[in-house]
Amino acid sequence: MTNEHSDNPPVVKPNEFLLTLELSQMALDSANVGIWVLDALSMKFLPSNRSKILFGFSPQDEISFDDALLKITEKYRRRVLIAVEKAIKLHSNLYIECPIIIPEEKVHRWLSITGGFAASDTTSNYFSGIVADITEQKQNDLRRSKFIGIVSHELKTPLTTLKAYVQMLNSWAQKQKDNFTLGALSKVEKQVKKMLNMINSLLNLSGAEAGKMHLTRQTFSLNELINEVIEETLFVTATHEILFSTSENILINADRDKVEQVLVNLLSNAAKYSNTGTPIEITVELSENKVTVGIRDLGMGIHASEIEKLFLPHYRVEREETEKIKGFGIGLYLCSEIIVRHEGKIWVESVIGGGSIFKFILPLN
Ligand code: ADP
Repeated sequence: MTNEHSDNPPVVKPNEFLLTLELSQMALDSANVGIWVLDALSMKFLPSNRSKILFGFSPQDEISFDDALLKITEKYRRRVLIAVEKAIKLHSNLYIECPIIIPEEKVHRWLSITGGFAASDTTSNYFSGIVADITEQKQNDLRRSKFIGIVSHELKTPLTTLKAYVQMLNSWAQKQKDNFTLGALSKVEKQVKKMLNMINSLLNLSGAEAGKMHLTRQTFSLNELINEVIEETLFVTATHEILFSTSENILINADRDKVEQVLVNLLSNAAKYSNTGTPIEITVELSENKVTVGIRDLGMGIHASEIEKLFLPHYRVEREETEKIKGFGIGLYLCSEIIVRHEGKIWVESVIGGGSIFKFILPLN
C-alpha cells in the first residue's frame, strides 16, 4: 500500500522536515508574526525571536512568562492571565488583544495573541500559538471610534428633544381620545427608542475603545430595571414571550443606564438569534455579595470555537443562519466592557441548535 492511501502520517525525511520548518519560519517572519510555546505544567515560556521583539525584548534576552506579562498594561494584564489559564484548563482556543508598554514608543503597541493545544496530540502539555502586531489596525479603530463618538453625540441631542415632543403629543392625543394619532405616535416612539438605543451603544463604544468608560453609580432595584427592559423590548419587538419571575427585591449599586444597556443587548440578541414565538427566560440568583443574571434562549446556539471571540469588538459569527441577521458586532463587546468595569464577569454557555444562556455576575456594591 502506498503512503497516500494508508492511515499512517506521510514519512517526512529529516532534510525535508528542516526545509518545511525553515519555510514556515520565513512565512511567519515576513508576516511579522512570532510563535511561542508555553509548557502548561511548568509554565516555562519559549518565545521565538520575533515574539521577543514584539513583546519589547531583544532576541538575546531570556524571558519568562511573567516577564512577558509584565510588558502588558496593568488594565489588560489580569485579563490576559485569566484568558490563558482558562484556555489551558478547558483545552479551548485562546484569542486576546492587548496593549504592550514600550517606553520609547509614543503609543502603546497592540498585540493579538492566539493559542491552543495541538489537536493531533491530546497528551501534550505544550500550549502554543502566534503573536502579531495589530497597532495600525487598533489606531484606525480609534480614529473611527472618535469620529463615531462625535457624530453620535451630535445626533443624540435632537433625538432626545424629538422623544420629549412625542411624549407631549402622546398625552395630548390621549386627552383628545384621538386613536389614529395615538397609533402613529406609538410607531414614531418605537423608532426613536431604537435610534436612541443605537446611539447610546455607539457612544459607549467610542468611550470604551478610547479606554474612557465612566461609571455613574447609584443604588437601584435590579428587578425593577429588568421589568422595564422587558416592557421596552416587547414594545419595540413583540416576537417572543419573555419569562421572568423573582420574589426577592435585589438592590445593587452600579451604573443603571449601562446595566440597562447590557440587558437590552442580551435580550435583543436572544430574540434576534432564535425563532419567533420561542420563549426567552431571565433568571436572577443572589449569593452573598453578588448577583448572577442569566438570559436563556432556545435559538441557533453558538459553536464552541466562536465563544472566545464573541466579546471582541466588531466580531460577528459567519454562518448561513446569521447571514441575513443585521448587526455591527459591538453589542457583546460593550456588555463585556461594562461588566468588567463593574468588576463583574460575563460568559456564555451554548449548544448548537439548542440555544444559549448568557450570564453575568455583578457585585452588589
Ligand atoms: P451583533 O448581534 O450586532 O452581530 P453582538 O456583539 O451582539 O453583535 O454579537 C456577536 C455575535 O454573537 C453575533 O453576530 C451572533 O453571531 C452571536 N450571538 C450573540 N448572541 C447570540 C445568541 N443569543 N444566540 C446565538 N448567537 C448569538
